[in-house]
Amino acid sequence: MANLDDAETDEASCGCKLGRVADKYDLTGLDDDLIAYWTGDADEQLSTRQLATYVNQQILSAALANADIPPREGEIENTYRLLTDDDVSSGTRVQTRNELQRDGVPVEQVESDFVSHQTVYNHLTKCLETELEKPSDEEQLERSAEKLSALQNRTAAVTSDTVSRLDRKDLIDIGEFNVTVSVTVTCEECLREYTIRELLNNGSCDCQS
Ligand SMILES: [Zn+2]
Ligand SMILES: [Zn+2]
Repeated sequence: MANLDDAETDEASCGCKLGRVADKYDLTGLDDDLIAYWTGDADEQLSTRQLATYVNQQILSAALANADIPPREGEIENTYRLLTDDDVSSGTRVQTRNELQRDGVPVEQVESDFVSHQTVYNHLTKCLETELEKPSDEEQLERSAEKLSALQNRTAAVTSDTVSRLDRKDLIDIGEFNVTVSVTVTCEECLREYTIRELLNNGSCDCQS
């Protein structure tokens, strides 16, 4: 394993992406915070998805500080949302990125330094050897959603490969194509249908609450 020993600092980085960006942006105390929030030793317990947002907002905050942009109330949360939220239009996102760039923030670099919740999870469990005695409900829901979405992605990929192969062999004919996998769960009591994501987000069928 590569160990970039830096004589200037006695804080040994684990070498994973999260360790590297924590060093790069000087996010001291981050590991302690991550463990406390994840295990629930802090005032509130956060899931790895929420922790990824927490880490990324710290990265963004450090990047704005490095560009000498004076901190403003709520700005980090809002800017982060504009850069990452699915509900933000691409026009708004481009504008946000351009403004940051103009203000001297290397926005592409910053975005590529953002970590995923999977990275947070690996850092906590592998680098920091932390275990959750009892995963929170939210954590369990996220893990399950994750597995199912990986399964759907895999189904889409295999389907796409198969169709391409058959098309190449002239066994079928199709133009440019796009594969969508959608799984729905139907409540037999009221016949409402949910995507798995909707069901996990809602937590229950409307007829059950
Ligand atoms: Zn790590
Ligand atoms: Zn129902």
